[in-house]
Amino acid sequence: MFEPDADHSEIREAVAKLCAKFPATYWRTLDRDVAYPTEFVRALTEAGWLAALIPEEYGGAGLPLSAGAAILEEIHRSGGNAGACHAQMYTMGTLLRHGSEAQKALYLPGIADGALRLQAFGVTEPTSGTDTGALQTTAVRDGDDFVVNGQKIWTSRAEHSDLMILLARTTPVADGMKKTSGLSVLLVDMREALGHGLTVRPIRTMMNHATTEVFFDDLRVPAANLIGEEGKGFRYILSGMNAERILIAAECIGDAKWLIEKAVGYAKERTVFGRAIGQNQGIQFPIARAYANMRAAELMVRDALGQYEAGVNPGAEANMAKLLAADASNEAANVCIQTHGGFGFAEEYDVERKFRETRLYQVAPISTNLILSYLAEHVLGMPRSY
Ligand SMILES: Cc1cc2nc3c(=O)[nH]c(=O)nc-3n(C[C@H](O)[C@H](O)[C@H](O)COP(=O)(O)OP(=O)(O)OC[C@H]3O[C@@H](n4cnc5c(N)ncnc54)[C@H](O)[C@@H]3O)c2cc1C
Repeated sequence: MFEPDADHSEIREAVAKLCAKFPATYWRTLDRDVAYPTEFVRALTEAGWLAALIPEEYGGAGLPLSAGAAILEEIHRSGGNAGACHAQMYTMGTLLRHGSEAQKALYLPGIADGALRLQAFGVTEPTSGTDTGALQTTAVRDGDDFVVNGQKIWTSRAEHSDLMILLARTTPVADGMKKTSGLSVLLVDMREALGHGLTVRPIRTMMNHATTEVFFDDLRVPAANLIGEEGKGFRYILSGMNAERILIAAECIGDAKWLIEKAVGYAKERTVFGRAIGQNQGIQFPIARAYANMRAAELMVRDALGQYEAGVNPGAEANMAKLLAADASNEAANVCIQTHGGFGFAEEYDVERKFRETRLYQVAPISTNLILSYLAEHVLGMPRSY
């Protein structure tokens, strides 16, 4: 579709043009009404952007991860939010890497053209939290099916998805067994499951995120929907985490750029005491610092992308990119609201909305503390803390 270039400038331009049709008033209204951006997601799907990472043989664009990052960054840079649909871009990775040929041929073309939405990712549970090995949802083999019982929480976009990647325990933890083994990935067809053992309940959150809790009550899932080998699910889920972290980091960079631009614009335009507030160093310096920190984080995102595309699965760089980019967008949000003074709190300026939206990345999809623990243990060689 496009000549590849390091910065994917043609892709960025095309995505920015699409996003311009969905201005601030669009996102503000959705936020106020706690509504899903159906038209935006449809436009992205029709333009093929959500199929960027699916190989061409399955109907996707077969673009590298850096193109996916450019698409998501531009959405956020334009003031929008990709949280409603980014999973359609990357959740299929579990199926692509570990599914059988028959499963890939069955599902990927539909995911590529948007006829099938694979947007739900059921890993987190209320009691296990970050400790995935402690999850309690079970899938017990019964003839040609698995019977699933349990609960997930924070299963985002479940109401706007046809399929769900589900991690459940298929083998009880026995003495001496690692608790991260015995977990399996099932592809749940939510269209058949809803009302037949699957219940989805929305959770209202501080930003408009379409997240839910999901209950399984003797839900029957065909054994043919097991992805890869039984018991190896934790490894499969883990294998997609670095790509996800890099893509989310790109969204944070987009947020930071939007927030910094907004702060600079207001600092130049707002006059108090007879001069632009941006003439005061007390206003300039925090914005300049936020800009420098955003640029440094952006370099780490690029480093992680470069390594990923060179065939390494860069755990340290992907985690650092997510950590630094989430910090940069959080700092930019704080600075932007401060620069706007009282108006930063008014909905019509969109700053408070972005402030709420970008705060999420300190916690999800992986919290800052867990990234620091990873770096301390796996990069710096200090003892495991948990
Ligand atoms: C809006 C939203 C959308 C989400 N979407 C999805 C989704 O689609 N699918 C999905 O599966 N999950 C999803 N999540 C879940 C998200 O991945 C988790 O919230 C996140 O990983 C943190 O887990 P927890 O909330 O259970 O926190 P906990 O594990 O309970 O941790 C609470 C706090 O304690 C800290 N902590 C825990 N253990 C340690 C330790 N050993 N050392 C230091 N600090 C520690 C954590 O960093 C955190 O700050 C979503 C969450 C939110 C809020």
